[in-house]
Amino acid sequence: MADPQTHNQGDTKSLEHYWMPFTANRQFKSSPRMLAHAEGMYYKDVAGRPILDGTAGLWCCNAGHGRKEISEAVSKQIHEMDYAPSFQMGHPLAFELAERLAQISPKGLNKAFFTNSGSESVDSALKIALTYHRANGEATRTRFIGRELGYHGVGFGGISVGGIGNNRKTFNQQLLQGVDHLPHTLDIKDNAFCRGMPKTGAEKAEVLEQLVALHGAENIAAVIVEPMSGSAGVILPPEGYLQKLREITKKHGILLIFDEVITAFGRVGDAFASQRWGVVPDIITTAKALNNGAIPMGAVLVDDNIYDTCMQGPENAIELFHGYTYSGHPVAAAAALATLNIYENEKLFERTKELEGYFEEAVHSLKGLPNVIDIRNTGLVGGIQFAPSEHGIGKRGFGIFEHCFANGTLVRATGDIIAISPPLIVDKQQIDQIINTLGDAIKAIG
Ligand code: PMP
Repeated sequence: MADPQTHNQGDTKSLEHYWMPFTANRQFKSSPRMLAHAEGMYYKDVAGRPILDGTAGLWCCNAGHGRKEISEAVSKQIHEMDYAPSFQMGHPLAFELAERLAQISPKGLNKAFFTNSGSESVDSALKIALTYHRANGEATRTRFIGRELGYHGVGFGGISVGGIGNNRKTFNQQLLQGVDHLPHTLDIKDNAFCRGMPKTGAEKAEVLEQLVALHGAENIAAVIVEPMSGSAGVILPPEGYLQKLREITKKHGILLIFDEVITAFGRVGDAFASQRWGVVPDIITTAKALNNGAIPMGAVLVDDNIYDTCMQGPENAIELFHGYTYSGHPVAAAAALATLNIYENEKLFERTKELEGYFEEAVHSLKGLPNVIDIRNTGLVGGIQFAPSEHGIGKRGFGIFEHCFANGTLVRATGDIIAISPPLIVDKQQIDQIINTLGDAIKAIG
């Protein structure tokens, strides 16, 4: 068994200058885990050691790594035109991409607003919701409702509607005003080890009625949830829960935003979780697998009615005054078009459905190992939850992650939950390898 410290082998990079996201510098005494190469299902570290990618990078690389179709499209576009101003003019690929997205998106969500990340998609979606209500003559609708344990990126909008305490605590005094949170749907007392959606818990959506009664529907702009919470540790919606949210929001004229930054592009089966689970929101936020993680890019998919309403108002008064220098960047758009072609040609969303039964059995085979208190799964996502160790919350999860990494498999630790979400090109043998390495790590860490 390899020593978890071997990740630094061959690596000479110091921690002197680069401030790593989420202050990861503190995890390392000398230099960080360093990835240097990626091909198919594998990363290689700087020493050339292969590491099986059990997480599609950070839920991004659904088509696997090193895809020539994408790098060629990127290179061609940079030669053709590296950049075009995104305000007051456009370029063909962004329009083509918007059209392609409309073809695969849920019914009615035919407009795409481009961003550079999931966080930007979320903040853009919140602004679109406010703009719509103003344009619709309901300017009092300014409140947002998120959900406990929700992750919506790191912008001030995203952390305000998000429900992960750590992301908010330093910034608590400066969050958006007028935000409430629905209860989360994790229930490991009644639903531990259930496969797919929990059978009970849909009534948690009814708390929304209480919030409407408290604040008045006329003051509420939108509800935002991840159809499946990813970053908080793979929390599935109970059966009927999303439908209930849809019913209540529709009844009260409140917009429903699904944050599909993780679930879009085949992760749970269809192109969007919305389609797999049969609930169409008004707005969907995406990023990550949109272009296989190759170039930063996100997209907000918006219902026609919202768009039309925003376009009808008097110019400059209530239009969406919002955009990014890199909105619909030509190179990112080229990467996205090449990625969507791969998804389509290789039928990768269908592949998720074909493999999910095998994946489910494999993930649930970890039941009974030390300290495993819940296992959750859908599509090609699994979450294994552990009892916290006496050394502190998150220590066991992180120890298991480190052990897996040292033994050639990348999984993701989020607190005491390990998430696995391999590229959709994964095969059964590789699923076994991920699960075997994880099983060994769980036994070793204890
Ligand atoms: N929303 C969700 C649901 C996410 O999972 C993430 C990232 N994990 C984000 C938003 C933020 O995306 P980014 O890191 O690209 O800003």
